[in-house]
Amino acid sequence: MSAQEHEKEVPHLKETLERFSQHINPGLAALVRFMGFEAVEWQAQGAVIKDTAGKEYLDLLGGFGTLSLGHSHPEVTAAVKEQLDRMPLSSKILFSKPQADLAARLADLLPGDLQYCFFCNSGAEAVEGALKLARLHTGKAEIIAAEGAFHGKTFGGLSASGREIFRKPFAPMLPGFHHVPYGDSTALKKAITDSTAAVILEPIQGEGGVIVPPDGYLREAREICDEAKVLLILDEVQTGLGRTGRLFACQEEDVAPDIICLAKALGGGVMPIGAFASTAEIWKVFEPNPLLHSSTFGGNPLACRAALAALEVIVRDDLAARAAKLGKQCLSRLEELARAFPQLIREVRGRGLLIGIEFTHSDVAGLVIAGLAQRRVIAAYTLNNPCVIRFEPPLIITEAQMEQALAALRGSLQQTTELLEGLPLPDAKSESIASE
Ligand code: PLP
Repeated sequence: MSAQEHEKEVPHLKETLERFSQHINPGLAALVRFMGFEAVEWQAQGAVIKDTAGKEYLDLLGGFGTLSLGHSHPEVTAAVKEQLDRMPLSSKILFSKPQADLAARLADLLPGDLQYCFFCNSGAEAVEGALKLARLHTGKAEIIAAEGAFHGKTFGGLSASGREIFRKPFAPMLPGFHHVPYGDSTALKKAITDSTAAVILEPIQGEGGVIVPPDGYLREAREICDEAKVLLILDEVQTGLGRTGRLFACQEEDVAPDIICLAKALGGGVMPIGAFASTAEIWKVFEPNPLLHSSTFGGNPLACRAALAALEVIVRDDLAARAAKLGKQCLSRLEELARAFPQLIREVRGRGLLIGIEFTHSDVAGLVIAGLAQRRVIAAYTLNNPCVIRFEPPLIITEAQMEQALAALRGSLQQTTELLEGLPLPDAKSESIASE
């Protein structure tokens, strides 16, 4: 595109920012600008985004874990384009081949006996469906979830989530939800009663600040649920499909849930799609009324074709193994940085390419994000813990791009140190997600 055509075709920065502020979300517009991302995205390929001015950004955030295949993966976009030209949306009455093929493929890949799938459009919807199925199957109402958990912002997802700042303004939450400390199987066991339908957990808490539970926690949770005849729902919306070095994070402990929730990377970075899946035995409760749970757009042919193509690439290219290898390298480099900047970094942790850097204070994290923005690297906080920046790039990121990201981070840490020189370091204890 010539410079003149570019000028004519791309929306102007000022106009887009104004429209965003005046018609979408003024607070978010201010926050994003404050973080230093004053740019309008225009084009993207792999781990690189170009803005309307032609500047390039390295995407370390990966759409909150959605972009495991990077932006615009050619095999996924080709599948979607082919479907788009033939039949974009479903009649909703004739049988959909893409949907049937996707459900069968997922049944092959999912752990344990998970065999039936319901398709929706987002992670929160997948969680809603899972919670409804648990109540329907058990005839019980109570759900146990974890403190710090993030399961989406619909009422069911929010009721299961564990951060008061998002829950309080919408109180009351759905009845019957209880929270226990994450990673503590004794507390989990104690919380189960005769009224408990299910326990819902993330195998690694993503938005909670990339919290990896103690070894054996998922297996213990499985045993506790079996013993109490309570369903185990694993929310793999963020951890699923290779992100943590396994196709599903629960496979790290050889655990299969009764219900699994998926979304994000399932759409191959091209289409929105979510799913919850369960066993034939549990799914039977849907049989008497096949319209008990439904969605107009859920499982649409474009999204299912994207997901089928995404699964093909993830399995064929063994992106889980790639995530494990790159994640290990990245974590050890981040540990070096943590040793070099102990006044800023409290801890680095994670598994595969789901990595969190915990700073001594959320203001420090904010300054480091702004420093990354200046170096055209996109990063963000975890939603339930603003002290933590996540390192969650596309699994197809190259080693050279990873080096670029680490160099930018080192530069930003150095700059933040200089900015804070002579100032009292913020008191980490003044800020605690538990106190909200
Ligand atoms: N569950 C988990 C574990 C998530 O990380 C998220 C989003 O970050 C959700 C559910 C909600 O997904 P969505 O934003 O697609 O509704």
